[in-house]
Amino acid sequence: MSWLDPDDDLDDEFEDFDESSIRVRPNPKANRPRTKRRPAHEDAEIGRVLGVDRGRYAVMIDEGTDDERTITTTRARELRRTPIVTGDLARVVGDTTGDVGTLARIVGIVERTSLLRRSADDTDLIERVVVANADQMLIVVAAADPEPRPRLVDRYLVAALDAGIRPLLVVTKTDLQDPTAFLAHFEGLDLRVFTSAREEMPVDEIGEALIGHSTVFVGHSGVGKSTLVNALVPSADRATGHVNQVTGRGRHTSSSTVSLRYQSEHGTGWVIDTPGVRSFGLGHVDPANILAAFTELAAIAEDCPRGCTHLTDAPDCALIEAAERGELSPAELSRLDSLQRLLQTFADKAEQTPGR
Ligand code: GDP
Ligand code: ZN
Repeated sequence: MSWLDPDDDLDDEFEDFDESSIRVRPNPKANRPRTKRRPAHEDAEIGRVLGVDRGRYAVMIDEGTDDERTITTTRARELRRTPIVTGDLARVVGDTTGDVGTLARIVGIVERTSLLRRSADDTDLIERVVVANADQMLIVVAAADPEPRPRLVDRYLVAALDAGIRPLLVVTKTDLQDPTAFLAHFEGLDLRVFTSAREEMPVDEIGEALIGHSTVFVGHSGVGKSTLVNALVPSADRATGHVNQVTGRGRHTSSSTVSLRYQSEHGTGWVIDTPGVRSFGLGHVDPANILAAFTELAAIAEDCPRGCTHLTDAPDCALIEAAERGELSPAELSRLDSLQRLLQTFADKAEQTPGR
């Protein structure tokens, strides 16, 4: 254990600790009689976890005030099984001055509004928590170099919608390739799409969409995600994200995810960059939620027989019948193919692991 716990004797205060019971109290100095054993630290301050690096959490305290500062924290021993990730709102006690050499302690996490998870691959049931409390996901793909893969984007969409996060799409490198054919796959979806070229990055348009939100950026390596992040957040914070990206890429995902503040004259928002996320396994997703992510197809599938698998051999499947009658647009046909491939992956997995 590399972390230091200066306050071991406080441990018994955590007996009744329960993550779900933590709320931001409107008046932390409420005039309550002091009992000897408090259920949790009532004097804890709430801060935003900006990043995690080798057991140390950078936490922003007093966000948006003149006292705003980023402090270094460690987590209380009681929380060692609780994943704490970028975007979490942490309850912090101890020295929260942020002075050099100080180390405060995270004693709890405020109930999350969303949790983006992934698995290493589709057969991996062990999920990894990527980001907490994001309400948007900006999916970054390149029009070329690397070649865009609609089915990879569909995976991101499933992960986002499974987590209750609104997806947005940006296609970069449109100077290299016209993205029309690629984008046809998503036609008719309720999905906001931006396009970006080397000399024409839609910084203001994307920035506008970031204001008031916490947006997690995802994309395969090489698509130009860092270029985009740097254009959106040209502040000192970005250096941290950059360094972490270089050292952490593909290895320590959790240690390389960082929150960066987008700021414009119109407002602010949070950009959460996830440099380490290469694959987006969906092993943790309930297969029933996959169809739901294909919104336009889910509507048609309401006419499917009960328990329909929607696989290519499914009898009386409303999706297949609609396709055969020529009622699906090219985009819908392409998405149906993507859906069936994803569902097949899960069907194969269920066969391999009958105990699931
Ligand atoms: P990341 O791995 O997704 O973070 O990608 P980077 O931001 O590091 O970009 C990968 C490469 O693509 C770099 O050489 C960038 O200069 C280049 N690149 C980024 N955006 C564009 C673009 O819009 N057009 C072109 N032609 N190249 C781009
Ligand atoms: Zn069906």
